[in-house]
This record gives sequence, C-alpha cells and structure tokens, in this order.
Amino acid sequence: MSKTIIVSNRLPLQVKLQDEQLQITPSVGGLATGMKSVHSEGNGLWIGWSGLTEEELNDQLKEEVKVAVRKEKCATVPLTGEDIDKFYFGFSNRTLWPLFHYFMEYTEFEKDYWDSYKTVNEKFAKVVLDHAEDGDTIWVHDYQLLLLPKLIRESKPDISIGFFLHIPFPSYEIFRTFPWREEVLEGMLGSDLLGFHTYDYERHFLSSVKRILRLEVNFNEIVYKDRIIKVDSFPMGIDYDKFHEAAREHLEKSPSERSDLQRRLDDHIQTDEDTKLILSIDRMDYTKGIPNRIRAFEYFLNKYPQFKQKVRLVMLAVPSRSNVPQYQLLKKETDELVGRINGQFATVSWTPIWYFYRSLPFHNLIDLYTSSDVALITPVRDGMNLVAKEYIATRVKKDGVLILSEMAGAAQEMNEALLINPNNFEDLADSIKQALEMPVKEQKKRNKVLQKRLRRYSIDKWAAEFFRSLKATQNLGQVIVAQRMSQETEQKMLGEFKSANRSLMMLDYDGTLTGFRDNPEDAGPDERLIALLKKIHEIPGNDMVIISGRDRKTLEKWFGKYGFTMITDHGVWLHTAEKGWESLERIRTEWMENIRPILETFVDRTPGTFIEEKNYSLAWHYRKADPELAEIRVMELNTVLTSLISNNELSVLKGNKVTEIKSSNVNKGRALSRLLSQNDTYDFLFAIGDDWTDEYMFEEMPEDAYTVKVGYQKTKARYYVRTNEQVHQLLEKFPGIR
Ligand code: UDP
Repeated sequence: MSKTIIVSNRLPLQVKLQDEQLQITPSVGGLATGMKSVHSEGNGLWIGWSGLTEEELNDQLKEEVKVAVRKEKCATVPLTGEDIDKFYFGFSNRTLWPLFHYFMEYTEFEKDYWDSYKTVNEKFAKVVLDHAEDGDTIWVHDYQLLLLPKLIRESKPDISIGFFLHIPFPSYEIFRTFPWREEVLEGMLGSDLLGFHTYDYERHFLSSVKRILRLEVNFNEIVYKDRIIKVDSFPMGIDYDKFHEAAREHLEKSPSERSDLQRRLDDHIQTDEDTKLILSIDRMDYTKGIPNRIRAFEYFLNKYPQFKQKVRLVMLAVPSRSNVPQYQLLKKETDELVGRINGQFATVSWTPIWYFYRSLPFHNLIDLYTSSDVALITPVRDGMNLVAKEYIATRVKKDGVLILSEMAGAAQEMNEALLINPNNFEDLADSIKQALEMPVKEQKKRNKVLQKRLRRYSIDKWAAEFFRSLKATQNLGQVIVAQRMSQETEQKMLGEFKSANRSLMMLDYDGTLTGFRDNPEDAGPDERLIALLKKIHEIPGNDMVIISGRDRKTLEKWFGKYGFTMITDHGVWLHTAEKGWESLERIRTEWMENIRPILETFVDRTPGTFIEEKNYSLAWHYRKADPELAEIRVMELNTVLTSLISNNELSVLKGNKVTEIKSSNVNKGRALSRLLSQNDTYDFLFAIGDDWTDEYMFEEMPEDAYTVKVGYQKTKARYYVRTNEQVHQLLEKFPGIR
C-alpha cells in the first residue's frame, strides 16, 4: 500500500533524556496539527531529527529512541553535534534565514557551513530512501531541506514529491548574491509541486528560476528536463476551532478558576474604564521588529500623551536561537530599550511595558489573546505570522483590533486589519491611536470578515489543498502526448530502417543537431557533427535532408561541399547534389522595409536582443535578454505586429527565444509535403526537430512515421528525447546497419 512520508528538520515530538530515561511527548505546533490527518492516514511516516545528537545517546538509547519514535509513526535522522552546529545553527540560521528575510548584513557565506548543509541533506535523503517505495508521496518542509527533493528524485525518478517553504522567498536581487544559488534552485526543482505562503514569494522564486537557471516558465509551470514542475501559493492557516473554543471556555471561567497571569491582567484592566492592553507576541528574532515596535510605542506615548497611565504594552518574547550572536545582541537591545522606556514613563501605579522573556503554555497564550484590546504585530519581514491569525481566532465577541505589518505574509489575506509599514513611526503611532479609539461596531465588522476567512482556510484545509494539488501534478505529464524514445521503440525503428528500401530522414539544425549559442553565427557544425552527417548521407537508399530556418547562404557555407540535400529559410529553398539550389516558393520581401524599423525600436529598448536578417524573413533574437523583460516585449511585439499584418501575407513564428516574421505561404510542412509528393516510394520516414516551426513538419508526416521532438514540450511528434547529446546518440545508430 502506498504511503505518505512527511519530512521536516524536527520530528513532531519532544524527545528528552532525563536521568538516562527517555521522555517522549507529541508537539502541538501548527505544522504538527496541520499534518495530523496526513500523518495518521494508512502507514504514514514522519522523518526528522529527534532533537538529541548522536553523542548524547549510547547504543542502547539509540535503539530505544528508534523503537519509541516508530510507535509514533516516525523515523529519526541521526545527526551529530557538529551537524547541528554547522548545518542548523550555521547554514540554516546564519545564512539562509537572514538572506531569505532580507538581512543581507547578517548573512554569512561560509563554505564549511554549506558543506555541512549538503552532508545533512544527504543524511535525510538516505533515511527517506530507506523507507520510500514507488507510488509513495513525499512532502518535504522548509529551508533546512532545500536540496532534499533533488536527492530523492535522483534515486526515485517517478516518486511524487512536494515541497513547502515556510519562510519568504526573497526577490531575485537578493537571491542572486547567494554563492550556491544554482544548487539550491536545482535542489528544490527535484519536486513536482513547490508551495509558498504568498504569490509574491512564488513570483520571486519563478523569477530566480528564469534568470538564474534560464528555464522556460509558463505561468506557474516550469519545464525542467523531462518534467513539468508546478509552483503555487498556499497561505498556511491555523487550527481555528482549537483557539476559538479555548477562548470561549476561557471566558466562561469563574474568577477562582483563572490563572495567576489572568488575575494580574484583570488587575490592570479593572483599574479604569478606559484602560487598554496592547499585546505583542513573537519569537525573539531580528525579523520580528521588536526594538522598532518599542521605539514606535515610545513615539506614540510622546505624540499622544493622553494615553499615558491608560495603555500598557504586554510584550511576550519567546527565547530563540540564543547561541547565534545577532540574537544575543537583539536580546540586549530589547532589555535596554524596555528598561529605558519604563524608567522614563513609569509612575507608582503604571509601567508602560510589561515584558516577558520566556515561552508560555497554551492556556496563558489564551489569557493574553482574550484580554488584549489591540494586537500589535509589526515584523520587518515574516513568512506568514500565525500569532496575528490566532489573536483574531480568539476574539469570541468579535471585538479587538489587529495592527499588522505589511511585511508579514499574513497581511495578504488580512486586509481588514490595520495594515502598517513598520518603519513608518508616524503611521504606526496613528494606527495605535486609531485602534484604541475604534468603535466596537467597526471592530466587529472587520473581525467578522477575518474570522470567516480564517475558519474556512484552516490548517487542515491548507494541508488538504497542498495534497490535492500535488496529486494533480501527476497528470501534468499527460499534456505532452509524446512518449520518451524507449529502448524498445528505438530497436523497432532501427529494425524497420534496416529493412526499408527507401528512407527519408528530415533533420532540423538549430536546437536539434546543435545546441544554442548566444550568437547564432557561432553555432556552426563541429567535426563530430560533420562526420556523423556524412555517414548518414552515404547510407544507400537513404535521403537525408537538413531542414532549417537558416538562410541559404549560411547552410551553403557550412555544408555546400558535401552535396547534402538541404531546405533553408523555413522551406523557401531546396538544395540537391544534382540540381543545386532551386526555389520551392515564390515570395515577396518588400514588407521587410516596413517591419525592420519596428523591430529596431524593440532592439533599442531591450538590451541583449538583436535582429537577424534572412533572405525571406526577419528574426528578433532575445536569448541574452532579461527573460522577464523579454516576455513583456514579445507580447508587445505581437500586439504591434497583429495590428499591422492585416492580410494573410505574413505570419509570426515564435521559436526558441526568437520571434520570426516571414511570408505566410512558407513553412517546413509545405516543403516536406513537396518532397513526399515527388517521391512515393519511401517506406521509412523520420523527422526530428525542437521548436515550433518543426511542428509543421510533424503534422505533415503520415501517422506511422517516426517523429521525434527534442525537449519536453507540447508537440505533435510521437516521441521525444531530452538533449542534443541524445539526438547524437540516436543518429549514430543509423549508419552501418544497412
Ligand atoms: N507560541 C507558543 N508559545 C509561546 C508563544 C508563542 O507556542 O510562548 C506559538 C504561537 O501560538 C504561534 C507560534 O508560536 O503559533 C509562532 O508562530 P509565528 O508564525 O507567529 O512565528 P514564527 O515563530 O514561526 O516565526
């Protein structure tokens, strides 16, 4: 039976060692909740690190951990203390975390950390591969495991892999500075589905894929080797009912049932009718904008002194990564700021900031959420921010105001909150005032919409949607009807070729017999290709035709002396050894005078592009241009051309990073059909090509012909191969068998 494997850095378990005894308790975090149904289904498995290093466990304990986590449907990845230092505290938290959150000045590019990151990802891959079987589905989580999808794919090419990034994906301008950018992108592209919290992160990722790996991206699909990878956004939700129900029960508690914390909060609330609490909760992390928030609160108290003695900021900062230097500095800065402001403003009965540096149990979080009139969540950068969502979920009476930074992923779905730029103190101070004075009716109106959305798109729904989408990617391949050229097909084809009396082989040039160069003039044939073509040309009873969009002059220069049959300019000219060059089509070229200046304006405005002038067509090449700019320009050019080309005389062909304008009555298909009508004795037909213009040729071929597309794209060809090297390997099998 197929199963689902979840992989994350940590297991959803707390594994502790007390007096040589293991203590294992399940975690209650968001991800563990979200994955619960996925994990508990069938023989689901969760793979991750237990939290104890290899050095902390003797052989017997290792075995005990293994057995104990197995009972919880988990498997551990053994990591050493050094792994944790370099892979986790090093590369994950001192390189990827700051870089992906736009803290370039904190980012350390250490080769040693990177090596460890690779090694640990391999360790994860090993455990996954020990358990994975064909037909299983694997869901990999987060920035610690960016290389894992590729590592799994290499050993299990057909397994279904999803990946979700829980932190932002930065803009290309940031990501391009990363020394191992190609490896990381390729690692991620081992997946079938890549999920991000927001459309912006998705967009940034696709932009990096296009610009750095130069891959073809169609909307949110990436064509990579022989696979199509889907990229989408899935904003992670919370366990809405859990928070809402806990808050409801909390409000029903009698005073004697209340916690100590709640009593202290009540003391404050009850001092005066217009006393208000503002809440902030976050991990002590520089991305959360804690010092900025405290300064903004100070600014607010100075700007609107009427709120002194009335408003208190309750700030919970949860200790995090405290062995990384920047976190230690942040803690120091926060302590000092709180001390300074409290010292400056406090009175006998009032301190402006109530500051807790610890983590609190769930019921205390509910105390804080339900007692606070305003939640002030102001990260400078945050992948999602669940606290903002949790605050809204606990507002059983629908009152309360959320002030939320635009830089949190959650802001994309929480438009009804007061959205602020955390660096704009004026705006922040005014928003705090607005929140404190907001009529309850308006609070309820806003929260009603927010709650409805949070209830609907809960964490379960998030996981289910991701899974549904991952399953759907299994059908993506079917869009491409061609089949991979298998060993059997190849044998059958070569067998038919061997016994044929008269055969025709149509070979496209650019992108098929050779790869692409930045400059088309540099893509002439090398010795190996010439030698191969000469051999094919000499096969008795075989007609080899090189068919190309290139002009007659170029092909004459490259191949003229060998007597090959050639069709050039997409089908305008035919060259045979017997008759030399003859025209297949009668065409006009006056239109070029009108179209050339238009293309020139595109060259001027699009760096890296140029015009290739052929005898019968004009081609605008944009291989070297910025892919995103080129995409916009291609659309623009199409619009301009369609408005100009009113009759059917001209057509626009979109090739591989080239747009070509030529007379309509010319294409490779028409040229091929002429050849076929002049000779009806062919009993073996073969055509190979890589781009759009070759589709005319595939279309013109009879059904039983061997038509082969180079690359994995939509095609009318029956088969495909992936690379130019594979084209060579295939063609090298023809000579000598007949
Ligand atoms: N949280 C907690 N204990 C605390 C304070 C917070 O478990 O003492 C939880 C909180 O309920 C939320 C999570 O920590 O679910 C923080 O998630 P968020 O997305 O806001 O920030 P992250 O820490 O993931 O950057």
